[in-house]
Amino acid sequence: MVNKKIEKLLANVQKPGRYVGGELNCVRKHADEVDVRFAFCFPDIYEVGMSHLGLKILYSQLNTVPYVWCERVFAPWVDMEEEMRKNGLPLYALESGDSIRDFDIIGFTLQYELSYTNILNMLDLAGIPLKAEDRHSLSQLVVAGGPCACNPEPLADFFDLFFIGEGEEVDLEVVALYREYKKQDRSKEEFLKAASQIQGVYVPSLYHISYHEDHTVKAIVPKEGAPLPVKKRIMMDVDKSYFPDKFVVPYIEIVHDRTVAEVLRGCIRGCRFCQAGFLYRPFREKSVDVIDRQCHDLCDSTGYDEISLSSLSTSDHSRLNELIDRLHTWTEKENTGISLPSLRVDNFSPELMSKIKSVRRSGLTFAPEAGTQRLRDVINKNVTEEELMKTVNTAFKGGWTTIKLYFMIGLPTETLDDVAGIAELGQKVVDAFYANPDKPKGKGVKVTVSASSFVPKPFTPFQWEPQDTMETLRKKQRHLVASVKTRKVEPNWHEADTSFLEAVFARGDRRLCGVLLEAHRSGCKMDGWQNFFSFPKWMEIFERCGIDPAFYANRRRSFDEVLPWDHIDYGIKKSFLIDECKKAYANVTTPNCREQCSSCGASCFKGGICYEKRQGLV
Ligand code: SF4
Ligand code: SF4
Repeated sequence: MVNKKIEKLLANVQKPGRYVGGELNCVRKHADEVDVRFAFCFPDIYEVGMSHLGLKILYSQLNTVPYVWCERVFAPWVDMEEEMRKNGLPLYALESGDSIRDFDIIGFTLQYELSYTNILNMLDLAGIPLKAEDRHSLSQLVVAGGPCACNPEPLADFFDLFFIGEGEEVDLEVVALYREYKKQDRSKEEFLKAASQIQGVYVPSLYHISYHEDHTVKAIVPKEGAPLPVKKRIMMDVDKSYFPDKFVVPYIEIVHDRTVAEVLRGCIRGCRFCQAGFLYRPFREKSVDVIDRQCHDLCDSTGYDEISLSSLSTSDHSRLNELIDRLHTWTEKENTGISLPSLRVDNFSPELMSKIKSVRRSGLTFAPEAGTQRLRDVINKNVTEEELMKTVNTAFKGGWTTIKLYFMIGLPTETLDDVAGIAELGQKVVDAFYANPDKPKGKGVKVTVSASSFVPKPFTPFQWEPQDTMETLRKKQRHLVASVKTRKVEPNWHEADTSFLEAVFARGDRRLCGVLLEAHRSGCKMDGWQNFFSFPKWMEIFERCGIDPAFYANRRRSFDEVLPWDHIDYGIKKSFLIDECKKAYANVTTPNCREQCSSCGASCFKGGICYEKRQGLV
């Protein structure tokens, strides 16, 4: 809630609605009636952070605990930051307007590597010492979770602890422990030592990292009884895991401005580039009854007229048609739309199409990821050209005329022929439209082929792979454009330089903490926003710090090298990832978890798809 001091600044900034709080369903408590004040910080602007499902879940869940008050904090846009610094206003939480400097726990969610400088900038704007070793008391405990916490090392100096895996249980356990230690006036060191014993908690200061002369990691040694490895936490019964019945409804338009229902966690596929697919194993579905109830509650409490059925691969839900039929029993009456953000090429059926079409029609997006079958086999995409053509023909028959296809360039073993294959596949989709007797009358077709640059990520079979140099990526991008023959196919791509930086920090080690600090001091922030990202500036910073970024991005690692994240355990065996990498080079695919278990290791969590009957088996 804004106070006079904040209000004074709002006339000078764009979109003041980002900074005022007080929205429908936001949680207000009395600071003096709670024991733990938790600042949930999203290191990007309001519109991005408010669209994030993890924030909605953890914000609501923490606030169900009577002794906790969790508030939201976003990175202010540069105009507001300037006003705040000019007027001596520290970073504040939206619900109370209080400076987060006075909070007990400051928690960040790590969604993408290019937000790391925003984290330091937010701490600085709050007046909180950036390095964990400079924060001595138990208050101002700085913690983080989210997918990028799988390799926390480039941020190790700044955080007191990281949550590894899914947060719903472990967050509450840490907060309860914090409350106990705060009441007993115990030290931060005592608390961290105790917290490190909770499964899913990583305390970086309790691990010593040594390096070889060639800068590769020599050893990771735990201290004071800290566990090795640190095992992820996971919610096995997703029907019973906490899900809010209310979301905060923003005053201003946000990126995903709708109700979001989570239908499943994990993915049955094993695309070899996909970090999320491995981090969230095993695949776990929510039941139709639970999803239906949650959607209804959320629509009632927020007033939204659109539900997005969210997950890594929604069309893999085994009872999707039944779910949509069930939702239709009330969404049609209430004129509420249903959208499926992630559709697979190989299971978009006429039946499914008619169900989503009956309520609302949006452009269709599919991700073949690679332009040729050979390369799709390398990455284990398990999608054929025939399936893609069948799918787009279904879509054209159904009246769709805009298709977006997502690809990656720079994948392991890729040649220029594979890149040209992207344009050719786009052209085949265009040709299929004109050859289709049931195409929508009097309309043209537009096919966008969107190519991002491949970034090798930890905990994937490609974690040892070099990223293509920026020069090679740019050459491939030019080749893609040159390979497009008609204006019906529209190529687009992302700049290679941001992907390079992403690759550096995704597989970095603790030596990068110094680089991040220097980047912050040099004014780097909002690096995910093209207008602010300065590649030459970053290169100067690496040079000043004596760090070669290509060592992290473009170097092939050997299978026996100690990786900076080797002490973190997501349940996937390293031997499985090595086998998958070798199979990629042999163009051999691996079946999905529903067809056959490939013994990746995730059955150690004792549930989900690992314990279900396989298709075709009795
Ligand atoms: S289908 Fe492939 S790319 Fe999509 S979430 Fe699953 S593993 Fe990842
Ligand atoms: S153990 Fe088998 S079924 Fe379970 S996630 Fe791994 S490959 Fe899939």
